[in-house]
Amino acid sequence: MMGPNVELVSSSADFPRETEVVVIGGGIIGVATALSLVSRGVPTVLLEKGRVAAEQSSRNWGWCRRTGRDLRELPLINLSMQLWEGMNARLGQDTGFGITGIAYAARTEPQWQRYRQWCEEARQQDIHSELLEPGQLQSRFPGLQGAFQGALYTALDGRAEPQKAAPAMVKAALALGLNLQQHCAVRSIERTAGRVSEVVTERGTIRCQSVVVAGGAWSRLLMQGCGLALPQLKVLSTVLRTGPTDYDPGMCVSFGKVALRKRWDGGLTVATSATSISDITPDSLRFARQYLPAWRVERQNVRLRFGSRFWEELTRWQPGTPDKISLYERIRVLAPQPEAAVVQAIAANLVQTLPGLTAVPVEQSWGGFIDTMPDAIPVISAIDPQPGLFLATGFSGHGFGIGPGAGQLMADLVTGSTPSVDPHAFRFSRFTDGEKVRAQHWL
Ligand SMILES: Cc1cc2nc3c(=O)[nH]c(=O)nc-3n(C[C@H](O)[C@H](O)[C@H](O)COP(=O)(O)OP(=O)(O)OC[C@H]3O[C@@H](n4cnc5c(N)ncnc54)[C@H](O)[C@@H]3O)c2cc1C
Repeated sequence: MMGPNVELVSSSADFPRETEVVVIGGGIIGVATALSLVSRGVPTVLLEKGRVAAEQSSRNWGWCRRTGRDLRELPLINLSMQLWEGMNARLGQDTGFGITGIAYAARTEPQWQRYRQWCEEARQQDIHSELLEPGQLQSRFPGLQGAFQGALYTALDGRAEPQKAAPAMVKAALALGLNLQQHCAVRSIERTAGRVSEVVTERGTIRCQSVVVAGGAWSRLLMQGCGLALPQLKVLSTVLRTGPTDYDPGMCVSFGKVALRKRWDGGLTVATSATSISDITPDSLRFARQYLPAWRVERQNVRLRFGSRFWEELTRWQPGTPDKISLYERIRVLAPQPEAAVVQAIAANLVQTLPGLTAVPVEQSWGGFIDTMPDAIPVISAIDPQPGLFLATGFSGHGFGIGPGAGQLMADLVTGSTPSVDPHAFRFSRFTDGEKVRAQHWL
């Protein structure tokens, strides 16, 4: 199954043997971390097993939102939105970023009450979202079908183009001295006297002081290779792209059963978070207890599926070793197949909600594996028991918008600078230091 067309980036000519920091993973998080590091003059190598942004970072909706975020993430998303706003000028490249506003319409009273509460909480962190009445929603979306209580709206939220953003950022990082190697899987991370000392790739070894694992849905396996249990699972989400249309919703908007935004190419990106699929795998059994709170709040949106992925992960998903071809080389791009029934349901929900779009053709659909954590917030952290090892992963379906901020924070931690925001909530040790897992669901 073909994914979206991502802007291509050329790798650096020379394969490096030594550097200060190796970043594993050329998604938005690895790229933003690398950009922040090279901007500070830190010698950095970015390694990607496939191509920059071929996995989640090009497959997402492109929403850069404060709206409805977990309260623990609000300082980081505020930083990230500031960075997005200056991004095109900083890079001299087009990421497709623009302020459009984001709205989430509420279909039920409990949902509406949650939006009201979030709005009040967010105001304390200087986020001024509004509550739109049903009439305001109808006048912004003429012809809208369905009964709504109202909508949570943030005028200063926006979107960037996932197929352009990480490539644009990495091109600017290359100009600042980044060494980028694509088609270069990391098989293992090695230590000397307890400290990270090198990574072994399919093309040779690179000596380094620090390693940042930003492997998206692969981080669990990369950490397992270091002897560490990261309670990360994968959830399949489906996206549709329509052909060009004159219709422009103006903002990014979710009506629950369907969400849409205008794309740079004149089409619409259409999806919903209500049709996600969680394949039962050996890891879902292993981490079942940790995921119970998340399951309670998300079960309306996520369907459990038992099938071939269980056996695939049981038999094939093993960490790499230095001397053998690894799974990372065998699966260059994780490109899950969307279910035909889900694609049809999203397309049907679109025209049911906005009947004026009946004639707009769906041109493409794709799947993406979201990497989730039990508390639905990421890990951005040093791994204390293994000096030199850092982790930025588990963005739980909302890492694109927060990516620039997360990259800056990760670079702060790697360089020992004062963190741009308090990183405490994102520490890796929260899964072992007795903190109660809290999963909040506002949207
Ligand atoms: C359908 C969908 C919709 C979404 N919508 C939104 C949205 O609207 N807004 C939002 O903020 N977020 C959204 N997200 C979430 C967002 O896309 C992710 O949180 C974000 O892209 C994660 O970035 P990443 O860099 O951590 O991971 P990825 O983009 O998955 O990148 C990880 C990279 O690591 C590489 N890698 C892994 N292992 C190795 C190895 N051993 N050696 C070398 N390279 C390796 C992989 O090849 C991959 O390219 C959505 C996600 C999906 C799937």
